[in-house]
Amino acid sequence: MSEGAAKKEEKTRRFQAIKGTRDLLPPETALWNRVEQTAREVFTTFGYGEVRLPIFEPTDLFARSIGLDTDVVSKEMYTFEDRDETSVSLRPEVTASTCRAYIEHNMQQLPQPVKLYCIRPMFRRERPQKGRYRQFYQINAEILGGTDAPAIDAEVIEMVMTFFERLELQGVQLDINSIGCKNCRPQYVKLLKAALEKVKEKLGADSQRRIEANPLRVLDSKLEHEQPIIEKLPRIADHLCEDCKSHYAAVKKELELRGVEYHENWRLVRGLDYYMRTTFEITAKGLGSQNAVCGGGRYDGLVELLGGPPTKGIGFAIGEDRLILSLQESGREQTQPGRSVYIVCIGEGSRSAALSTASNLRSEGFRVELPAVEQKVGKALGQADKLGIQFAVILGETEVSTGQYTVKTLSTGTQEKVEKSKLVDYLNQQYV
Ligand code: ATP
Ligand code: MG
Repeated sequence: MSEGAAKKEEKTRRFQAIKGTRDLLPPETALWNRVEQTAREVFTTFGYGEVRLPIFEPTDLFARSIGLDTDVVSKEMYTFEDRDETSVSLRPEVTASTCRAYIEHNMQQLPQPVKLYCIRPMFRRERPQKGRYRQFYQINAEILGGTDAPAIDAEVIEMVMTFFERLELQGVQLDINSIGCKNCRPQYVKLLKAALEKVKEKLGADSQRRIEANPLRVLDSKLEHEQPIIEKLPRIADHLCEDCKSHYAAVKKELELRGVEYHENWRLVRGLDYYMRTTFEITAKGLGSQNAVCGGGRYDGLVELLGGPPTKGIGFAIGEDRLILSLQESGREQTQPGRSVYIVCIGEGSRSAALSTASNLRSEGFRVELPAVEQKVGKALGQADKLGIQFAVILGETEVSTGQYTVKTLSTGTQEKVEKSKLVDYLNQQYV
């Protein structure tokens, strides 16, 4: 390539979004807003407040809390050295950051428990596919401090189920499990490891590797030929300590009291190290193999691990991208169209009336389109129709001088004269 050609190519380079990232555009963003608005409403009724936390944190915060042997930390983090040579990472999840903030702002001095939620992007370098992206969005909720009473676990689950119900998410299934605590889990893991060693040769490479690093994760395997082997492995429910056993039984009872249906799934383990006792996952329809829309669980030791006081904790993360995909796949993506008006202004003399009408209607919450350049009436109505607008207000010389505006309902084509001062009432009446 000649130097000139190279320069030209450089000049005209078209940029594209980085692999695994997406532009979310209208009209789809209206659905995102509806989902987030619903989350805010539901979570507020349960007493949660919003936090907005930094997108990047010290790498160590994630390494320590999520665990070095997890996929997230070992392969998926976007880690880089800052100019002062400290290692920072884009957050792959937000529970660790929330605990950091809880400690940093002495939230243990607030009335306990503290209930927080966060709706923000996360970053993981995974292989992009349907429902799996490198920048994706989560809706998180966490309860920190106070007691570890089973009613807390059940209420957190009730809240997310209420949210999904409100959105009419289809095919929702809640799986729950207890993965024990630091007293009983190590013994179970030891047993599991021994059992896995015996069948090692029959397992795939991934599971073989996990026997040492993270044996619980073997239970997560979706490989066909491993299924009958996994079915015969020891089950944690048979090895829980008395405290964990009664806690788990009480969580189930509390769920029943709340009318929340659940499936017990002894193979449900979470990919992050900090979880203990109650763990849960929620799946929904229309997502293929990436069908988990929510994962959560209890993490009582985490705040302490990060240098804070002993603190109970439980929370969940909803995959918003997947939630939206599922709503779209099952035709639940409709958003309420707003009230909308197109102003057809004819002649310079009507301009001032058009501007004040636009301003009035907007202050009443209407979407108003007022074309920058005057259009012929036919063309204006065509444009309004294409934009999906419901009413046209036609303002010509006669309308302005008599104060009787022409209002056309675009869906039916009916046209009426409406007194200028009654315009808002008239339009509002069409919506009841
Ligand atoms: P998966 O097993 O599907 O990889 P995970 O166990 O890694 O999920 P969590 O860390 O529990 O996921 O995150 C909670 C939720 O966030 C998941 O249930 C999923 O809905 C969503 N999620 C996780 N990773 C991604 C991703 N790369 N793209 C889109 N959503 C994601
Ligand atoms: Mg994952």
